[in-house]
Amino acid sequence: MKFEHHLQAETLLAYAAGSLPAAMALVVSCHTEVCEQCRRELRLAESLGGKMLDSLEAKPLSAAARDNILSLLDEAPAQSEPTPAAKSPQQPLRDGVLLPTALKNLLQIDSYSQLRWRKMAPGIEKFELPLKEGRSFMLRIGAGLAMPVHSHTASELTLIMQGGYRDKLGDFHVGDIADLDGSTEHQPEAFEDESCICLAGMDGGLKFKALLPTLMKPFMRL
Ligand SMILES: [Zn+2]
Repeated sequence: MKFEHHLQAETLLAYAAGSLPAAMALVVSCHTEVCEQCRRELRLAESLGGKMLDSLEAKPLSAAARDNILSLLDEAPAQSEPTPAAKSPQQPLRDGVLLPTALKNLLQIDSYSQLRWRKMAPGIEKFELPLKEGRSFMLRIGAGLAMPVHSHTASELTLIMQGGYRDKLGDFHVGDIADLDGSTEHQPEAFEDESCICLAGMDGGLKFKALLPTLMKPFMRL
């Protein structure tokens, strides 16, 4: 499956290093379950993490080497992944609705209609996930409705599960992920033809980037 909006290299490195709070790690695993491009970059991030350990013990990497690594993550080769035959017996994307295995198993549901949605505002409902690290919730936004303009004090990952929305960053369809830091102000507006369901994960003040192991820091655009 091809998507337009993906995870940032920094987020994949943090995930590979085990530094993301559970609320955000869940969103990363849900997206990488269906996105070959991010899976490929994640494998690269994992192997780079090991190489960093080796090379940094010997001597610090030059700025050029660091740039090389970041550009590798930004431009991972397009066809290095073998075709996964019979990847999963379940279909995470069915009838235009994405229900990744990680989420399905966590919530023990077959459909988002089984969740106990709570009304937040007219046409907008919320379901809080039972995760202890960070904040994790799902939103169901009625067709054509806009969220209030907001920014975030924390890093936020949002994955579209049904329908989609538009904001100043572009159109987000099923499977697309918005990987935003605390400075982004936006106003998502659900597409006209269908309600939008999305999964959001925030660091909840944990500031995950600050938790990255010191070893990783030379490779981050901090
Ligand atoms: Zn992706």
